[in-house]
Amino acid sequence: MEAIILGAGSGLPQADRNLSSVLIRNEGCTVLADCGDGCTKRLIESKISPEELDAVFITHYHPDHVSGLFILLQWLYLAGRTKPLYLFLPERPSVIMDILHVMYTFTEKFSFKLQILEMEQAELYFDWIYAANTDHLYGYTNIIKDHSLANQMKSYSLKFTGAKGDLVYSSDLGTTDCIAEFINGVDTIIVDAGHPEAEQILKLKYRDIRRIILTHGISVSLEARKDELDKDLYEFAEEDLVYVV
Ligand SMILES: [Zn+2]
Repeated sequence: MEAIILGAGSGLPQADRNLSSVLIRNEGCTVLADCGDGCTKRLIESKISPEELDAVFITHYHPDHVSGLFILLQWLYLAGRTKPLYLFLPERPSVIMDILHVMYTFTEKFSFKLQILEMEQAELYFDWIYAANTDHLYGYTNIIKDHSLANQMKSYSLKFTGAKGDLVYSSDLGTTDCIAEFINGVDTIIVDAGHPEAEQILKLKYRDIRRIILTHGISVSLEARKDELDKDLYEFAEEDLVYVV
């Protein structure tokens, strides 16, 4: 299995970093986890053909994870893709369909079949991919209640299981504690170092993980304790590098 981090930046756009997106290839299957703005350009630069992707997973609806989805779909149909595409969404899939309609993007006109599904269904279609709920969006509880909004605060980490070990893409987290069991013993984790407190990142060394790749920027508290990161275990994500599991 291999992973290419197309975007390792935080939610704050920067000149030298792209927004969240990770490409994973495993046994003839290619999937994309998150579609930060610019991910399609990144795919084209990486020489990914419009036919190659089998599925797209959106871990949550923050713009730095979903904003590139619409141009990705536009690329695929303008390029004449014919293979069906599975799109797994974190919650309320009909909302994304509504946005597509707002953008005059009608799936009936696509050159390929777009199958939209909920994240919970992922492992039914891809038996090597598992999703786990995270605590990333729980901080919105009050505002959602106060305004009686439909938001379900769903956010996911993804596990990709391979013949030589497993890879987890944590996506954004409040804490790493919320996925502690999910990540135990995996070969590699690509983990959000921008939101969780330093202690939450430092304690990952007790989870029997071979390689810990820090992405999505770096929190203030981790920046201050960077020297405590074991150099043999932790590294900062590099875009375009092919990570092999
Ligand atoms: Zn984010």
